Amino acid sequence: MPEQYRKFHRHPAKPIRTLQDAADDAQIIVLRCGLCRRLINYLATDLVQVLNPSRPVDAPPFACSRCGTGDYMSARVKTPSMADYGHLTIRRLLGIRSVSKWGNRQLGDELKSDEGSNRR
Ligand SMILES: [Zn+2]
Repeated sequence: MPEQYRKFHRHPAKPIRTLQDAADDAQIIVLRCGLCRRLINYLATDLVQVLNPSRPVDAPPFACSRCGTGDYMSARVKTPSMADYGHLTIRRLLGIRSVSKWGNRQLGDELKSDEGSNRR
């Protein structure tokens, strides 16, 4: 287990519950900032696409986007109820933008038309 996760492992006798476990159960991760009280709901199935699926589910993955600090963040897991459908606002993963793409080419070779399209 990575060092920074240890403090979230509160029950030594129980196996750690991971983000993947929550995704498998279609759960919601509720991130809350104790400083500004901002609260954001994420789907665990979205988070496993961008985070390490084996990370503890109650380890807050992000700092507060409003305060810019992660010191007051808490994460809890919620199982959606029927009443939540159509009412609960979820911050969904709308897409993943790739940043860097690398490949070996010979010096002087032109890139194909579908390559280099992400360069700005
Ligand atoms: Zn905040």
